[in-house]
Amino acid sequence: MVECPVCGVALELKEGTEKGELLQCSDCGIELEVTAVDPFTIKEAPQEEEDWGE
Ligand SMILES: [Zn+2]
Repeated sequence: MVECPVCGVALELKEGTEKGELLQCSDCGIELEVTAVDPFTIKEAPQEEEDWGE
């Protein structure tokens, strides 16, 4: 189990989850990136720069 760095909810990662995988917090909906698997560590995924147009 890992804690969402944003809202603190406990997330269960599926067996076989690999470093670099992206997942979404089931509680706050933020996108998270797996940065390490032993132990599981997650961080907020970098937000893609949206092109809002001009
Ligand atoms: Zn969350």
